Amino acid sequence: MKVIGVLALQGAFLEHTNHLKRCLAENDYGIKIEIKTVKTPEDLAQCDALIIPGGESTSMSLIAQRTGLYPCLYEFVHNPEKVVWGTCAGLIFLSAQLENESALVKTLGVLKVDVRRNAFGRQAQSFTQKCDFSNFIPGCDNFPATFIRAPVIERILDPIAVKSLYELPVNGKDVVVAATQNHNILVTSFHPELADSDTRFHDWFIRQFVSN
Ligand code: GLN
Repeated sequence: MKVIGVLALQGAFLEHTNHLKRCLAENDYGIKIEIKTVKTPEDLAQCDALIIPGGESTSMSLIAQRTGLYPCLYEFVHNPEKVVWGTCAGLIFLSAQLENESALVKTLGVLKVDVRRNAFGRQAQSFTQKCDFSNFIPGCDNFPATFIRAPVIERILDPIAVKSLYELPVNGKDVVVAATQNHNILVTSFHPELADSDTRFHDWFIRQFVSN
C-alpha cells in the first residue's frame, strides 16, 4: 500500500485531492493507494509521497513554521525514499535559492535550482496554455497548463540531479517550468490540478513516481 499526502496548510490542496481521487476511481495501479490530507506531523508520518500545492509560498512557509510542521516537512522532502511533487508555490517552497529573495519565505532547500517568483507578472497576467508533454507523458499533448503568478526555474544548480522537462520563453529567454530531481522529486510551475477533468498529469505522477 502507498499513501499520497496532500499538504493542506494553504492553497489548492482540494483540487489535487479531487484529481487524485478521480485517477484512483478510473485506473488500476496494481497496488492499493490511499490519499491523505496532511496538516500535522502525524499525518505526514503515514505518507510515502507528498504533493505541495500552489497557493502562496510566504504564507505556506509561515504556517508550516508556526504549526511546528516545518522540521518534519524538511526531513520528509530530504529523504530520498519519499516522493515529492511541488506545484507553483510548492516549487518555490522546495527550492534551494530564490532569485527575488523574500526573507519571509524560509524554503525547504531540497530542489537544487534558482527560482524566480512571479516570473510572468501579476495575477492579471495569469494564463492557460496548451502544452505538449508527450515526450515524457505518453499521449499528453494539448494539455491545458494554467500559470497563476507562476515561478520559473532560472538556473539549475545541480545539472546531474535536476533534469528540465519543459521550457517556455519569458522575455526572450527559455526558462524551465517543469523538472525532476533524481528519481523522486517532480516540480511544475503551473497547476495541473486546475485542468478541469483532465487527469493525465496526475495519472502519470502516480504511475511514474508512486506505484512502480
Ligand atoms: N506567486 C506565488 C508565490 O510566490 C505562487 C502562486 C501560485 O502558487 N499560484 O507563492
